[in-house]
Amino acid sequence: MQMIDNRFVVDQAKKLRRSLWHYRKDLTIENIDDHIQILNPIVAAEFLDLIYEKPEEIEYYDGQKEIAGMLIRPEKKIVIAQKFPPEFRIFTAAHEIGHWACHRDLISHRDISLDGSIISSNIQERQANLFAAELLMPSKLVETELKLRFPMFFGQFIFNDDTAFILGEDLRTLREMPTRYRSVKVASVAPYGGMYLNSMHQRFKVSKTAMAIRLETLGFVK
Ligand SMILES: [Zn+2]
Repeated sequence: MQMIDNRFVVDQAKKLRRSLWHYRKDLTIENIDDHIQILNPIVAAEFLDLIYEKPEEIEYYDGQKEIAGMLIRPEKKIVIAQKFPPEFRIFTAAHEIGHWACHRDLISHRDISLDGSIISSNIQERQANLFAAELLMPSKLVETELKLRFPMFFGQFIFNDDTAFILGEDLRTLREMPTRYRSVKVASVAPYGGMYLNSMHQRFKVSKTAMAIRLETLGFVK
């Protein structure tokens, strides 16, 4: 297995993000001014000149687990099974693009449905998840969207009476529960602040868990 470090993986995702923004006018995007619409694996595949196939399901079974995504490098092709929920399809597709960009030794690769919540023992799998999180949820955008929803947010989410009220949760419970409980709350609550805003995980089109993990990784929720 070819060894690359995580910094390389993150840099590749950042480079791709910058290219998508730079060439956004040439890509098929509904609203090119919305950064989050641009950070889409289908758009990334178009930019990378990859074929993106969308069958209802992938007829390949690996033990008991169903295949949700494939990378077939010689054909420059990514295949994503449509029967899984959109947030899993998007994350799995971003994961395959991560393999494409970082793991040249993966010629033909298959994955089960992913949202980054399963921590694999395989380093390439963890790196592809890291790439997906970096591509779909850039730090600055996550921070901006957090501030829109929680105006008192500054660098780190503070759990007090005010934020507990917004999160619709008892402050003591919030403080006593593990970090993941708090991060999932912040990821999944749609706060009402005079205008309608969807939740963080809906905004980034990822699962609650994927958003929660990202909030933790970036140090925004502890
Ligand atoms: Zn994989």
